[in-house]
Amino acid sequence: MPKIRILVAEDEDSNYRYVEKLLKKAGYDLLRASNGFEAVEYAKVYEDIDLILMDIKMPVMNGVEATREIKLVKPTIPIIATTAFAIPGDREVFLKAGCDDYIPKPIKSEILINLINNHLKIA
Ligand SMILES: [Mg+2]
Repeated sequence: MPKIRILVAEDEDSNYRYVEKLLKKAGYDLLRASNGFEAVEYAKVYEDIDLILMDIKMPVMNGVEATREIKLVKPTIPIIATTAFAIPGDREVFLKAGCDDYIPKPIKSEILINLINNHLKIA
């Protein structure tokens, strides 16, 4: 079975390394985008992205805008939004932009892996 490929859109290196360690340990193949614009480009170019973990606060283009753009061209790729600074109502904003789910930072490994498996319909 081919590896599941996750695009991680995350501007902070330390945050990326944390998620990288967690997801690689779980057996996923990763691709990183450092801002929302890059995430949109990668989502368009790579045909083998199974799911996207989308940081919301990013330079150039934020995660909400990037999600809207990606959903226009690749509506079936699940997108999980993440941020450390959510305020009440943010979750609804993220979902309205097209995000399929939301996980607050700091990301808990088990919760993230469960979310990924749910969205990829993996038991
Ligand atoms: Mg960020």
